[in-house]
Amino acid sequence: MSKVKVGVNGYGTIGKRVAAAVSRQDDMEVAGVTKTRPTFEAQAAVDRGFDLYVPEESLQAFREAGLPVKGTIGDLYGTADIIVDCTPSDVGERYKAEYEAAGVKAIFQGGEDHSLTGISFNSTANYSESWGAQFSRVVSCNTTGLLRTLSPIDKKIKIKNVCATLVRRAADPGDSKGGPINGLEPMVKLPTHHGPDVKSIMPWLCINTMAIKASTTLMHLHTVTVELGREAKTDEILEIMRASPRVKLVRSGSGVKGTPEIMELAKEMGRDRSDMYEVVVWEDGVKAVGNMLYYYQAVHQEADVVPENVDCIRSMCKLEEDAQTSITKTNKALGIKK
Ligand code: NAD
Repeated sequence: MSKVKVGVNGYGTIGKRVAAAVSRQDDMEVAGVTKTRPTFEAQAAVDRGFDLYVPEESLQAFREAGLPVKGTIGDLYGTADIIVDCTPSDVGERYKAEYEAAGVKAIFQGGEDHSLTGISFNSTANYSESWGAQFSRVVSCNTTGLLRTLSPIDKKIKIKNVCATLVRRAADPGDSKGGPINGLEPMVKLPTHHGPDVKSIMPWLCINTMAIKASTTLMHLHTVTVELGREAKTDEILEIMRASPRVKLVRSGSGVKGTPEIMELAKEMGRDRSDMYEVVVWEDGVKAVGNMLYYYQAVHQEADVVPENVDCIRSMCKLEEDAQTSITKTNKALGIKK
């Protein structure tokens, strides 16, 4: 069977990782990536062997910079079976009509609203809902992290209510525009959009979220309080988490005290771009008391949605019907243990 051809529109933080992850799979390949300006990232894409597609008005600038260009962004639609749109928040929606007119499938990211596609995606929670779809949306990094732990717990022990506080990184490591650079900023409009975003995939779940922007670039950290449908023991919760895809348990006792050590661990694991694809839960920070459950988890914002994009391609392009088979295949190619 021929490989599915994947175009990546927006070769930034998420786009470059999605392109690299796609190129590691045996049932799909990168048809090309887009850049708007001839930056070092455009050069890096060429060095990695990806064909560059650029806006018509940027052709001259790329030529002058000596960067080889395969065609315009519109030309990419003709060579790809599916576009993974990784353009900045709210830019993706402007492309939807073009994808529609070109008859190409497209995946949007969490910066776009659920209403743009009517379907949102998470590998563990709802793989089959994007089966054969023309458009879907991989939810944000924080929502992906929450779904990775909440969905398996809800399947085994019904969840009554969730309250989560998200301590969010102020900017990505390569970004000099974000902030605060010294302080904590509460998101005062409550509840924050993360709870409703989880509900775009688990509509029955009662969940509210609060968020604080913190002066760090490394990861997000969540404190999660769950009211369970019945009493449970801490060990039962840990068993569920151990069995759940892309959930990694660490112990503060082993030296993983915070997000810096997790990023160091990803380097030690030899991960591409030092990416931690899994949501990381502190095993010694999980506590069930009666029907209440408390835990901490950390999300590598640049990385956790990457395997989900690969699985979403498989579901939309009907490459693999079974969620677990796709998850296992993606994991193997990216060096994720489970
Ligand atoms: P980014 O700014 O790092 O990358 C966006 C890329 O798109 C850049 O290469 C930019 O040059 C390019 N671009 C800008 N305008 C364009 C246009 N009109 N046409 C084509 N390309 C254009 O952004 P990002 O952090 O990778 O975010 C992309 C999407 O992923 C957003 O929806 C965001 O909400 C979501 N997301 C981001 C993170 C994160 O933490 N960075 C995590 C999960 C999801």
